[in-house]
Amino acid sequence: MSSEIALKVAQAVDENRLWQRLMTMARHGATPKGGVNRQALSAEDRAARAELTAWATKLGFAVAQDDAANLYVRRAGTEAEAPPVVTGSHLDSQPTGGKFDGAYGVLAGFEVLEALERAGIKTKRPIEVVAWTNEEGSRFQPGAMGSAIYAGKYRLPDHLNSVDRDGVALGPELAATLKALDVPRRPIGGAVTAYVEAHIEQGPILESQQLQIGAVTLVQGSRRYTIEVTGEEAHAGTTPLKLRKDAMKAAAAIVLALEQAFDDPTDTVRYTVGRFDVFPGSANTVPGRVFFTIDFRHPDRATLTTLTDKIEGIAKANARGCEVKVTRISDVSPTPFDPAVIGLVRASAAALNMPSMEMISGAGHDAMHIAHLCPTGMVFVPCARGISHNEVESATPADLAAGARVLAATLVELANR
Ligand SMILES: [Zn+2]
Repeated sequence: MSSEIALKVAQAVDENRLWQRLMTMARHGATPKGGVNRQALSAEDRAARAELTAWATKLGFAVAQDDAANLYVRRAGTEAEAPPVVTGSHLDSQPTGGKFDGAYGVLAGFEVLEALERAGIKTKRPIEVVAWTNEEGSRFQPGAMGSAIYAGKYRLPDHLNSVDRDGVALGPELAATLKALDVPRRPIGGAVTAYVEAHIEQGPILESQQLQIGAVTLVQGSRRYTIEVTGEEAHAGTTPLKLRKDAMKAAAAIVLALEQAFDDPTDTVRYTVGRFDVFPGSANTVPGRVFFTIDFRHPDRATLTTLTDKIEGIAKANARGCEVKVTRISDVSPTPFDPAVIGLVRASAAALNMPSMEMISGAGHDAMHIAHLCPTGMVFVPCARGISHNEVESATPADLAAGARVLAATLVELANR
């Protein structure tokens, strides 16, 4: 149950102020279709970081960044040296992203700090808002990079040579991003009391249940693969079918065979082929090479492993005389969140008269890495038709404010323990 002070802060959260800040932030990388293209470490991302820093400085909060360009806004606690309670998300977007994915978690956290400041409420522990670097992984692989480095799962030097589609390396872009902001540098990592991240759901469940608040219990696990099928280029008019090594038809057979193998009446399995490149890409040449990706997700570790372990065998069985190379490029276990934090999110919602539900997250988030450091949870709010990673992504000011209020009550409770 939330304390009186937590409820007071929740009530001090200003729906209009939060909405205005979201709309201002959405100008950085705004697209003609109403979305956002603010990819990691781009000029637009730098502008967004500068905007957040200016807001924070104006309110007297301390701002710092680490070598991975994770950006921290801190409101001091009465116990200055106590490890902070941390919230946040990311400011980078997909190339055709929306206004709320990521930015909402950062600005909801910032709204909590501002509400505390304006209401003159002190907390025992500091509260920190973090904008984690490169969550989306659309420009530089892998995603959730800043939070994974913070949590010690990745090492920054291993990713400096990651290149974007234009061949631009991460290292110099990171250096330019750090240089663009005149704030103190702090070490990567450090003790955290607890972490709570607010995010739009990016799925249709809350909307269909007509609920404003989801308390996330688990982020489902994922494994990602690249598959390269190598056949032999040949003339489309002269080469008899039985003499061909057609990489395209083999790849198509593999994709469909996997779809059959992963058939799931409960609709829990998530199997996606999101990229499919055919070479040489000429209408009258039998394709000699195909490159494609598999993104596979499941909430249960054992099922995730059992099913994805079949990929290589199925691919080879459908190779049609071609060579097949299967490479696993990432492997993230399902991440359960802390029962006490989940309970606190639900209790905060209940104390604010907001019905809530527990739910799993189908998407990955920075919270899945920070969960390895400290008790962690997430607050979901609805987005229209569950659509995200899309320029039409939308959410209502009232739902966004509701999530910020639950976040406020939860953070203050954690910060006063
Ligand atoms: Zn996100």
